[in-house]
This record gives sequence, structure tokens and C-alpha cells, in this order.
Amino acid sequence: MELKKFIINLAPTPLVKLFANPYVAGDSINATTDTAQNFWEKRHVCSTIDLLGEELDSDEEVQYTVNVYERLIHALSSHEYATISLKPTQLGSHRSTEHCKTVIEGIVAQAEQHDKKVTLDMEDHTLTDLTLDIYHALNKDHPTFGTVLQSRLFRTDDDIRSLKNLSARIRICIGIYNEPKEIALQSKPEMKKKLLEQVELLFKEGHYPEIATHDEAVIREAIEIAEKLKIKKSQYEIQMLMGVPKQAFQNELIRNGILIRLYVPFAEKWKYAIAYCKRRMAANPAMAVYIVKNILHKIRGKR
Ligand SMILES: Cc1cc2nc3c(=O)[nH]c(=O)nc-3n(C[C@H](O)[C@H](O)[C@H](O)COP(=O)(O)OP(=O)(O)OC[C@H]3O[C@@H](n4cnc5c(N)ncnc54)[C@H](O)[C@@H]3O)c2cc1C
Repeated sequence: MELKKFIINLAPTPLVKLFANPYVAGDSINATTDTAQNFWEKRHVCSTIDLLGEELDSDEEVQYTVNVYERLIHALSSHEYATISLKPTQLGSHRSTEHCKTVIEGIVAQAEQHDKKVTLDMEDHTLTDLTLDIYHALNKDHPTFGTVLQSRLFRTDDDIRSLKNLSARIRICIGIYNEPKEIALQSKPEMKKKLLEQVELLFKEGHYPEIATHDEAVIREAIEIAEKLKIKKSQYEIQMLMGVPKQAFQNELIRNGILIRLYVPFAEKWKYAIAYCKRRMAANPAMAVYIVKNILHKIRGKR
């Protein structure tokens, strides 16, 4: 695992860009809304649009991010099939929870005026409290505001229980960040088993789970749980990342009346997309081999 990470970090930017192509909608708001529009018109697939960027530590970069989200909200106002996703570390968490909350509330309030729902992505465990504090604080006045929980964290069952009576919109996923064994499951099958238990808990507590996984068996089982509990198809959705080749399966689910939403990321400035693209590379096992071959090819070419 560590070797794969090391190799991916060595990958030259042009190679990362080439690899990232299917995973990133474009380098402008227009290109991104065109992509989302196409998904909707051609396949009836919804989107959640995310401006790539994380761990921003300057007020200027945060202000730039706010500005892009404001333009995005305006551009999306006639597209009712799209929501917006954003991250605390691109919106002021470097200053304080309070500052981050104020910045995010500004975006959520604007989005609300244009009938757009906003989801606060979940980053690594050092940000779980901050993210959920902001979620709870804003949810009172903005009930369509949603967030994400990660099944790998031991705390997640309690976090679900803390949502009691909120009818919360919660994206539930295994979580992309490697977390210490003291606080998180380490085996993927266990994370997925837990995810299904948590989908069931979310249903039972009256929430709207957004089940984010590409694992077809897990999705089928989640749907069986919904059927067993007599949960209507309008009370949950399945989410996947743009670029992961699951079209046939998505089409099958859509034909069965299940809402599919793709995570559609974009970046106006390439440097903000790098971390996301490297995570996607790490999630695709064939990639490390491809990168090694490319690096060796370059080294040989230079001799
Ligand atoms: C819409 C969405 C939003 C997310 N938001 C968050 C978030 O806010 N915070 C967070 O921590 N995590 C987030 N994640 C990531 C998630 O937690 C998982 O890390 C990720 O989805 C991989 O887990 P999986 O359940 O799909 O299972 P996996 O076992 O990883 O994948 C199942 C199958 O999908 C295919 N696949 C998966 N990834 C790729 C890829 N990159 N390229 C090609 N094929 C692939 C493979 O065939 C694989 O066997 C999000 C995921 C999605 C889909």
C-alpha cells in the first residue's frame, strides 16, 4: 500500500492529468455544467458538482473558492438535477470552526435562494468533529443541508444517533482516508458490512441515505434492505464517482426507478485537482503498474 502511494506521488503532472481525464469534468464552470446537463439529458443521471481543492491555508484562496461557488450556483440555477458538494478545508477551516461555518453558511444561503442543495464532504478524522459541528449548527436553519459519514470510523453509529429527528440527508460511504486502527476498521469487507448496517440504521431513523459506493453487491444488498423495510425509492439514492466505469449497472438501476447521482468534480486551476486525482489513482489498482511502466519508459528514453 505504502509503495503504491510512493509511486503515485512520483507520477509527473502530465501523467496525472492524462489519468484524471475521465474523473474530472473540466476546467471551467461552463464545461462542468455541460457535462452535468449531458448526464441528465442522455441518461437521466443527476450530479453533485464539486470544486476541487483542499487544505487551503490562505484567506485569498478561500475567497477565490467562495467566488467560484457563487458563480457555480448562478450557473446551476436552472438545473434542478444538480446539487453542490464542498469541503471544510477549502472554506476556512484553517482559521477556526466558527469562521468556516460562517463562510459555508454564506454559500448554503445563496444556494437555497436558487433551490440548490449543498453537501459538506467529510475529510479525514481530524476534521470529523468540525464537519459535524458545522452540519448541526447550519441544519437548524437550512434543513436541506447534508453531510457525509464514513463507515470505517468506530464513532459513526453514534454520529448517526446524534441526527435523531433531523430527517437528515446523509451520504454514507466507506471513507477514502486511511485511518489509525485505534479509531477505524482496517479491512474493506468489514467497512462494507458496517456500511450496510448503517444504511439500515439511517432508514430506520427516518433519514435520506445517499449510498456512495461502486460495489454492485453492496448496492444490491442496500436496495434489498430498503425493500424489506418498505422504504420508498424516493427516500434514498445511489452515488458514484464520475469516471468509474459502471454505466451498464447505473442504467439498470435507473430503469428500476432508483436515483443515481454522480460526483462531478472540476477545477479552474489545475493545482487544486492534484490531490483528488492522486486519490483516484490510488483507488485504481491497475494505475500503479501503468505509472511504473511510464516512469521506466521515460528513464530509458533519457539514457
Ligand atoms: C459520490 C461519492 C462521494 C464520496 N464522498 C466521500 C467523502 O466525502 N469522504 C470520503 O472519505 N470518501 C468519499 N467517497 C469515497 C468513498 O468513501 C470510497 O473511498 C470510494 O467510493 C471507494 O469505495 P467503494 O465503496 O466504491 O468500494 P471499492 O471496493 O473501492 O470499489 C468497488 C469497485 O469499484 C471500482 N472502482 C472504485 N474506484 C475506482 C477507480 N478509481 N477507478 C476505476 N474503478 C474503480 C472497482 O471495480 C472496485 O472493485 C465518495 C465516494 C463517492 C462515490
